Amino acid sequence: MTPSWSHVRDDFPVLHQHIGGKPLVYLDNGATTHKPGAVIDAISRYYQNDNSNVHRGLHALSMRSTDGYEAARKRTAAFLNAAAPEEIVFTRGTTESINLVAQSWGTTNLKPGDVILTTEMEHHSNLVPWQQLAARTGATLKFVPVAGDDAEHGLDLDALDALLTPQVKLFAFTHISNTLGVVNPAAELCKKARAVGALTVIDAAQSSGHEPLDVQALDCDFLAFSGHKMAGPTGIGVLYGRRALLDAMPPYQTGGGMVGTVEFAATTFKPSPERFEAGTPNVADAIGLHAAMDYLDTLGRAQIAAHDHALGEQACAALADLPGIRILGPRAGRPRGGLVSFAFADVHAHDVVTFADQDGIALRGGHHCNQPLMKKLGLASTTRASFYVYNTPAEIDTLAASLRRILKFFA
Ligand code: PMP
Repeated sequence: MTPSWSHVRDDFPVLHQHIGGKPLVYLDNGATTHKPGAVIDAISRYYQNDNSNVHRGLHALSMRSTDGYEAARKRTAAFLNAAAPEEIVFTRGTTESINLVAQSWGTTNLKPGDVILTTEMEHHSNLVPWQQLAARTGATLKFVPVAGDDAEHGLDLDALDALLTPQVKLFAFTHISNTLGVVNPAAELCKKARAVGALTVIDAAQSSGHEPLDVQALDCDFLAFSGHKMAGPTGIGVLYGRRALLDAMPPYQTGGGMVGTVEFAATTFKPSPERFEAGTPNVADAIGLHAAMDYLDTLGRAQIAAHDHALGEQACAALADLPGIRILGPRAGRPRGGLVSFAFADVHAHDVVTFADQDGIALRGGHHCNQPLMKKLGLASTTRASFYVYNTPAEIDTLAASLRRILKFFA
């Protein structure tokens, strides 16, 4: 059943405020999303009733905390249709998840002559770790080009086919571009990589809370995302990894909680996922993430995807005739995540964002952690409006009216 989207707004306490006398229109969801009462309450309930350290205690609070933390892991496995909870490692977020793969899998498996493949549309989090890994191991980092056409900006799949040689050991790509709104055909990309024996890493930061994800159907090897971009808390993220791969990887960090036996001279390590969770984990936020997943599944992830896409399309249409505008990403009717990124010929993105803030609208202006892509597109920055479950068509009208006012002012 399609949820009533205007009613969804009521679930998010932070949205009920005014900025400079105007109702808040929050369109910065690509950066972070707000949290429904159900998530805030779950975290608060945990601290009020259960708070304790996990895995090492035999008292009631510790056992309840352990149960809550491990239930969150099981819930995450179900959310992704992973084969087992052991395939779910809790991290601080997408960035840490990708760094974990680069440090642990990458350092032990790559050598000079190997190729790491990524794309020109990656967030710095899915670029810099591979660049550093290449420098450490002598592997070469290559990029699948983004088609330079403003009306599309998809990956050049012919170039991908040419780049996918047996030397490619790992292909890391974003599911939904945080700057372009492009939705990459993730299952197809994984299949192509597998055909040359390369492992795959999907950056699902912009898709995990926006559409159904099934790691078995995608047939990926690793997938990373952040709780805070999907109605969950900050400070918690997920690395999904195939169990056989995780179990063969060395620890990323070492310390308490992840060890078997420790002697002065040597240590044995637990299997995954504990092997990758050294120290006291973020129990409260794992429980908050569990609540966020429940919340999103109540709305329906397919319905969320349709809602986001519709707002993205509406925004593109509403902004298309603004003077001097250049809209990035897919043309109408093509797969588009719930965001639109645009630049004006004569007004800097930071001015747009500052003026929109006077109308109560939260936007993001800048390079969106995509500096090489911006350079390729000949842009210093763009303004990005990004949508989530609580945004409404009326808010797009408010955005369009505000942008008209700004353009008039600068004219
Ligand atoms: N990848 C993409 C596509 C993103 O949009 C972001 C966040 N903007 C990240 C990675 C990094 O996420 P985090 O900062 O939560 O680690």
